[in-house]
Amino acid sequence: MKCISCNREIAPDEKSVKFPCPNCDRFIIRCEKCRVLANPYKCECGFEGP
Ligand SMILES: [Zn+2]
Ligand SMILES: [Zn+2]
Repeated sequence: MKCISCNREIAPDEKSVKFPCPNCDRFIIRCEKCRVLANPYKCECGFEGP
């Protein structure tokens, strides 16, 4: 699992978030740090958001 914001490998015990992209059927995965900092992300389909 890799964070979509910082591209960092996420440890299995980290409180990451995973949710489906509102625009396509890919999953958006963000690490705890990016979630707390509300870093922007961009899905492969082009969808951007926090
Ligand atoms: Zn991250
Ligand atoms: Zn998408």
